[in-house]
Amino acid sequence: MEKEAKFWKGEDRKIRCLLCPHRCLLAEGQRGLCGVRENKGGKLYTLIYASCSSAYPDPIEKKPLFHFYPGSVVFSLGTVGCNFKCLHCQNYTISQVKPENYPLAEILPEEAVERAKKCCEGIAFTYNEPTIWFEYAYDVAREAKKKGLYTVFVTNGYINEEPLNEISRYLDAANIDVKSMSNEFYKHICKGSVEPVLEACKMYKKRGVHIELTYLVIPTKNDDAEEIKNFCRWVIEELGEMQPIHFTAFYPQYKMLSLPPTPFKKLMEAYAIAKKEGLYYVYLGNVAHGDYENTYCHNCGKLLIERYGFSAKIVGLDGRKCSKCGEEIPVVI
Ligand code: SF4
Repeated sequence: MEKEAKFWKGEDRKIRCLLCPHRCLLAEGQRGLCGVRENKGGKLYTLIYASCSSAYPDPIEKKPLFHFYPGSVVFSLGTVGCNFKCLHCQNYTISQVKPENYPLAEILPEEAVERAKKCCEGIAFTYNEPTIWFEYAYDVAREAKKKGLYTVFVTNGYINEEPLNEISRYLDAANIDVKSMSNEFYKHICKGSVEPVLEACKMYKKRGVHIELTYLVIPTKNDDAEEIKNFCRWVIEELGEMQPIHFTAFYPQYKMLSLPPTPFKKLMEAYAIAKKEGLYYVYLGNVAHGDYENTYCHNCGKLLIERYGFSAKIVGLDGRKCSKCGEEIPVVI
């Protein structure tokens, strides 16, 4: 469904979209790189307001968010389109398709919140990039907060400051992909750039949004020990040593079929680097080794949250404190 978009201005008889760092300049009838925002008659329209490709209850652990309402269920909404063109996209069937070529279901904000209230504790905008769904995500998130639900973005972090500020008012948590520390990687593999993503991580955190970072380890592309070390050092310097991070395994997808899956040894190397650099809450994902998904107290080592697959059981928390040593744990519950 179409709706006039936010964040744009007229420029040289064209429209400049100001939602994400691409800042697309669109002539009449032209769409942005995300494929879902179009200049129609001198105004910018979103083509996907309330248009959903998926709406399912999911465990919050699947996002992944491990320090945010562990064990809760989140109503997860997705649409189509993306402002990145990642060659390894796991969800390319929705992220790289035009709205007119996909059977989208209309779910208005009030209905989305009503449906979420029946089975879930929160609403997540996920599966494809929520930034480009801004107008709808904002309306749903505002409505959700009125009804006592939490709200989540699973995002690539490619968003400009003004929209980030607006959505942060109604956003409780975000899992942000940091895909690499290299601009070359972002440029050639994603059609983006790294700096705005790192800035968005800092800005979301500063505005009180709980964040967790995911780094998908891709053989030969971003798995170099030096790059992993750079990432960890940046996290500690900018976000602190308590910042939860997830290293996840790559599986060949979409246009990146010639690479092998990430060997477990490589993930362990990343884990060891992160721990050595001083990060406390480091997790491994997309692998069957449960021990790297559990949460342990950074002070005394007690098991706090036990995970198996996407299920989570709180076993060592008194509120937000470790039940053994009383240390405050960076967890939202
Ligand atoms: S949101 Fe879409 S149209 Fe707007 S700048 Fe980003 S890619 Fe371009």
